[in-house]
Formats: sequence, C-alpha cells, structure tokens
Amino acid sequence: MTSIESKRVQYRKYLERAGVIDALSKALIKLYEEQNKPEDAIRFVRKFMCESCPDDAQYDVMKNDLEEAKTHISKLEQELERLRGQIKKSPEEYQELTTEGYKSLMDDEENVSSLLRKYLTPELLEEYMLVTTPAPVDAYLYDCAVSGFEHHDAPVGIFAADADSYDVFNKLFDPIIKDYHGQMDNENDVLQKDPDFGNVDEIENLDPEHKYILSARIRVARNIEGLPFFPKLTEKQFIEVEEKVRSATETMDGELVGSYLTMADIDAETQAEMVKRHILFQRGDEKLTTAGCYRFWPTGRGVYHNPAETFLIWVNRQDHVHIMSMAQCGDLGDVYNRLVNGLTELEKTLAFARHPRYGNLTACPTNLGTTLRASVHIRLPLLSKDPDRLIALAEELQLQVRGTDGGELATVEDGVMDISNKRKLGFTEFELVKTLQDGVVALINAEEELEIAGQEG
Ligand code: ADP
Ligand code: MG
Repeated sequence: MTSIESKRVQYRKYLERAGVIDALSKALIKLYEEQNKPEDAIRFVRKFMCESCPDDAQYDVMKNDLEEAKTHISKLEQELERLRGQIKKSPEEYQELTTEGYKSLMDDEENVSSLLRKYLTPELLEEYMLVTTPAPVDAYLYDCAVSGFEHHDAPVGIFAADADSYDVFNKLFDPIIKDYHGQMDNENDVLQKDPDFGNVDEIENLDPEHKYILSARIRVARNIEGLPFFPKLTEKQFIEVEEKVRSATETMDGELVGSYLTMADIDAETQAEMVKRHILFQRGDEKLTTAGCYRFWPTGRGVYHNPAETFLIWVNRQDHVHIMSMAQCGDLGDVYNRLVNGLTELEKTLAFARHPRYGNLTACPTNLGTTLRASVHIRLPLLSKDPDRLIALAEELQLQVRGTDGGELATVEDGVMDISNKRKLGFTEFELVKTLQDGVVALINAEEELEIAGQEG
C-alpha cells in the first residue's frame, strides 16, 4: 500500500470509529426519504445532524440577545473609561510610572530614533519628574510623555498636555521643537513669525483643466485658550469645547453657513462613509490612544460643515478644532480664501492659545507655528513610477508626500497621492501656501515633461 492509500484507510477507520460516517449516512437517508426536497439541502443536513441546534425562532432570539449584550458591554466600557479618567494618580505613582516608562524607552536598543529618547536626559527626568503645570490641570511630565514611553517607534514621542507644558517642561520641549522643525541653529527668542495670510489673490487655481488635481485642502489646528489639551481634557471640558464651537459657528454667514453634527448622532455606517469622503475623522491611532486622545469617545466630538462640504470644523479630533477648507478641484486660491474667512469668523468669538515663541499652540509639537497643512490629492502617473525621484524632488521643493489616506507613500493608489507643505513653524501662513503652490506647479511641469518625452520616444 502506498502511504497515501494507508493514510486514507486510517482516516476512514477514524471516521467510522467516531460515528461520523453513521451520522452522515443517516442524514443523507433522511434527505432521500424526504418527500418535499428542501431548497437548502445543507441546512437540512445540518439541522438533522445537530439535534440541539436552535430553530429559526430561537436563533433570532439569540441574535437579539447578542446585540443587546454588545450594546451593554460598550456602555460598561464607556463607564469604565469614565471612571478610570477620574482616578487621580498620587505623586508616588507618577514617579514610579515615569521611572519605569523612561527605563523601558532607554533600554530598547532597536527603537532609538524618537526625539523624546534623544532629549530626555536622566538629569532632566530627575528635574521634571515631580513638577506639574499649574492647577487645576496639574499635568506631569508623564502625562506628556506616556505615549512615547510606550511606543518606542514614535518619531517624536511627546504631546503637550496643556499650554503651560511648553514652558514648564521647556528644556525638553524646546530642543524637540527645534530639531523637528529644522531650527537647530536658530537662537532667536521667537521661532514663529506673526500670523500673516498675505495677499490671498496671489494663490491660484493650479489645475484649471482638471487634469491632475482631484482635490485641494488647507487645514489649521487651534486650541481654545484656558482649556487643557486633549491629554488632560475632562469629560466636561470635551463637551465645553463642543459647546463653544457650536455657538461660535452660529454667526457664520455666506458660504460658511452650515450645521453641526455631534458624533454620537451619526450612525456607524454614515461615519464610515463620511471618513471615506474625507469629511470626518475616526479614532484608532495607538499612539494617540495611549496619549489619552480618545477618552470619553464619542463625547464632545463632531463636525461642522456647510452643505457644499467645502468648509469644515472637526471638533476634538486631537486639538480642540481643526478648521479646514476643501475643493474637489485644484483651486487652491478659492480654498485659501475660504479658510482665511472661516478662521477670521471663528476668531471673533473664540480666543485661541498662542505662544510668544512657538506661535499657535497644538498638543503635538510637530503642528506648532502656523499649524497649517495645505495639500492636494494629485495624480501624477509618470512621476510616481519613480518614487525615489519623486520624493527627492518633493524634498527639494519643501513638500511632503503621503498616501491619500494620510499614511505612508506605499499606499499610493492609481498614481494618486497627497502632497503638502512639510514645514509648519518658522514661516508665515502665506509663505507655506505659496510653497505648496510653487511646488505643485513644478511637479506638474515635471510630469508634463515626462509625457512629452514619452510621446517623442
Ligand atoms: P491632517 O493632519 O492635515 O488633518 P490627515 O492626513 O490626517 O491630515 O488627513 C485627514 C483627512 O483629510 C483624510 O481623510 C485625508 O484623506 C483628507 N485629506 C487631506 N488632504 C486632502 C486633500 N487635498 N483632498 C481631499 N482630502 C484630503
Ligand atoms: Mg486635520
């Protein structure tokens, strides 16, 4: 007997021993004897073989029970999260957590590139460990660095828990900010210039023929003065932010008129669909989770937008507000104009946190300064065939290339990518939007050259 045959025999013996053959035969005989052959024969066999299986009515009841249980669990989880958020850690606990977190970060010899690891010396750790920002926030260094302590691969690894964090822990934040924003040699007292939106008319439609650009978007982030940033917002304050923004948008007029939707009122399916259309955010990022960004979700989260979906305000995504203007074409001038108008309107009612040295304050040090990211979703099929050249070109133009989902370039689909200004601090708003404009024009020119070369060759 070959080995396959012997295996087959063994298997058949096993099936017989276990009663499988017998049970299957009975089921098949039963089906054979059935006068009205059922449409769904598999279901018939399954039901026959499984005496204790639930019937359809029982099945429906169980399905219902499961749904109810799931809802109940999610409510309990929220409640747990809420209670967890209320637990105050003692200074001793903070000390222990900070020491452990720091040790695990420094002991990891594979992930050594975070700026937190680079600049948090043992001396600074000692100095800052038990210091807090002013009451009632009382943020510890740990509240800012917890995400970097846990996620060693984070490029930066620190968030400001409130506006005061930047000053109270300045010897740590300052070099991180200078390093990230390429300001290492800058000894000025002021890193960020005064806001200057320049002459909006100098920003134009970059693709009037709709050949390359699918959409354009400019966003800025702001935090309301006097409230902590997301790592230390209380549940009440999440709601307070939402309330303040909601009432500030009530006076909007013209094309900025819209309505506010709170996240809890948007069903899951609609949320997913809105995320796909780039007009809503979701939670999920692990580093932000650890930093406390999704506490009390979906409380206080939501979106304001006009019917055309060209002016939007995301509430409590990370910073209190992300204000953005969009267009489903390359008209960057139109987008910029609307952003400036919307921001000006909001600033009439809301005072935002600013820093004399760093400009507009955001929880993440990478967003400081203008907090402005101007981007286009652009299709450059020929250029994107050579990602190395494309990235080098983008670097030269002070631009950053991302996938259209905001992720790594690896996710470029169909030659479409997200191209935006790389720098946010040290330049005016106008300079950064102009950088995108000039850079995109240069990239389109490069693409056109390749088109011509292809036609000639
Ligand atoms: P940001 O940090 O500027 O908010 P993200 O990369 O987190 O940017 O993206 C947030 C959302 O905005 C994503 O859905 C992204 O696809 C969308 N987005 C960014 N730029 C554009 C653009 N030019 N056109 C359309 N959607 C965009
Ligand atoms: Mg945003």
